Amino acid sequence: MRCPEDRDRPPPGEYKRRVVSAAPQALASSLVLLPRRIGRLGEELASLLSPPRCTGCDEPLGRAALFCDGCEVALAEHDPGICPACEQPAGPKGLCRGCAGRLSPLAAVRCAFEHEGPLSEALHAFKYGDRHELAAPLAALWIEALRAVGLPDFLGSGSLLAPVPLHPARLASRGFDQAALLAHRLAQALGAEARPRLASRVRDTRPQVGLGREARSANVAGAFRATAGLARGRDVVLVDDVLTTGATLRAAAEALVEGGARRVFGLTLARAAP
Ligand SMILES: [Zn+2]
Ligand SMILES: [Zn+2]
Repeated sequence: MRCPEDRDRPPPGEYKRRVVSAAPQALASSLVLLPRRIGRLGEELASLLSPPRCTGCDEPLGRAALFCDGCEVALAEHDPGICPACEQPAGPKGLCRGCAGRLSPLAAVRCAFEHEGPLSEALHAFKYGDRHELAAPLAALWIEALRAVGLPDFLGSGSLLAPVPLHPARLASRGFDQAALLAHRLAQALGAEARPRLASRVRDTRPQVGLGREARSANVAGAFRATAGLARGRDVVLVDDVLTTGATLRAAAEALVEGGARRVFGLTLARAAP
């Protein structure tokens, strides 16, 4: 297991791919993706020859699955009765009264798992290990966990699923947008609509890892802008992989409400202790 401080930090090699960050977004992502596509073909061939492995503990598996039985049992689901941003008892918004005020205008928030154990290993592999193919099984696991305690009302018909936007420079260095992949797979499985371009990240903020609550909030303030007209009058569900203090979701929600969204909700796969 990695120490918790490392979980959101890219491995050292990740920074080398930052070379094309100044190029226009589309060109940058195709330049970065081309060698990866070739690499992925090789990975797919290799996976045909070697048995699938557990994403939590790397044990070989007899079947294609995200986790072995032991890791599946070790998954910690987030209790929706507990505020994910501070661990006090949560009200109907999924947040405690203090966090509901602090994170306004988010109308409600729901997280499925605690960011620990096998799930944190799988998320790390997905984000930093080039394991894009994990988006579908992670989304399936996510929906299963939400259904077990009741799908939140805000996932009803008419809501748009919008990934928390990544800055183009970050997209170029990472090569893919993890929140967009998750939102796309969630929408597919739920029969909902994913809308990746409802907002954009207009400022490349430093990673939130290691920052306190106040600093996180200041770091992302004004970092997002809604795309003119797209969210007007709609209910929008912001999708992200991890919630820590909720500062990023709130900043994105503010931009969407300014852009005319009716209500904005937050949905994350995991919650990490601030
Ligand atoms: Zn395992
Ligand atoms: Zn709270």
